[in-house]
Amino acid sequence: MSLDPLLAVSGLETHFPVRAGLMRRQVGSVRAVDGVSFSIGRQRTLGLVGESGCGKTTVGRSILRLVEPTGGRVHFAGTDVRATHGTALAALRRRMQIVFQDPYGSLNPRMTIQAILEEGLVIHRLGTAPERLERVRRALERTGLTAAALERYPHEFSGGQRQRIAIARALVLEPEFLVLDEPVSALDVSIQAQVVNLLVELREQLGLTYLFISHDLSVVEYLSDEVAVMYLGRVVEHATAAALYRAPLHPYTLALFSAVPRIDPAHRRRRLVLTGDVPSPARPPAGCRFHPRCPLAERVCREVDPPATAAGGHLVHCHVAARELERAGGDADSAAAVVADMMASTPTATLAGGGGS
Ligand code: SF4
Repeated sequence: MSLDPLLAVSGLETHFPVRAGLMRRQVGSVRAVDGVSFSIGRQRTLGLVGESGCGKTTVGRSILRLVEPTGGRVHFAGTDVRATHGTALAALRRRMQIVFQDPYGSLNPRMTIQAILEEGLVIHRLGTAPERLERVRRALERTGLTAAALERYPHEFSGGQRQRIAIARALVLEPEFLVLDEPVSALDVSIQAQVVNLLVELREQLGLTYLFISHDLSVVEYLSDEVAVMYLGRVVEHATAAALYRAPLHPYTLALFSAVPRIDPAHRRRRLVLTGDVPSPARPPAGCRFHPRCPLAERVCREVDPPATAAGGHLVHCHVAARELERAGGDADSAAAVVADMMASTPTATLAGGGGS
């Protein structure tokens, strides 16, 4: 197996124009994604987390060019995705598929399940009719459904079954890489675990690589090898899932993760409630983008964009975390404990109800 990452994203930018006036002149831009970098090894899963509106969904769509990036580089299996066009791009897209959040909205209600699953094969002109049917059956069975579903319509299925059909639609093209955009968020809690387990099985059986986008931090922890945390169009911290959930370094990660229930009392944290609104991505603050909401903000935070600091398996953009990492001689766990203590002693730290926070 190649040691090169399957997907390498560098400085990715996706800005949307803001237009105003009669002539619809561009008066600014919304920086939905503003310099995001990461890579994903083959058969690995990167979780991408952050509050609603942080740009994580736009990252997934930009990689597949469902929205057109405005800057940066995306390499998939060594191919420059942004420089690929026409039939070469279509061939690349077969290898990179997406599963959307809403299993109700993503399946055409007027098409049978067979037609929905076959559509991609027809578009890509793959196989004869009997061969296509065989691939459709195989994909459906991999997701735990039977051929009895083929002649039926989406409304005849439950939410969980529809999401299985959406996954089968992605699998039918035999991709190597899936963007999973909040794939279980719209499902009942009782069904979520079944779909998550299915995704784990498929990853093992088919050797798939995932970008798993979610705001559900518990599911992300279960499914991901590494996790990147986004805030206002940027990745603020990236680490292995184990390191990030054990010892988050960035104040935003700390606040976000403080709401995750922990059974082990040794890992319970004070609930950190962030005040203030997320600034507009059309006018991101100078310096550290998190500074208007960060209880640890210092003068330097308002003036200087924090560069990346790498230590102990973490990549973190924070002046205070970088200083504590240096003091701790690069020991990320010790530095994280100091940052956590600083955060816990701020007025925004509260003891949440119940024992889990
Ligand atoms: Fe907070 Fe400053 Fe770190 Fe930004 S750089 S997260 S404002 S301490």
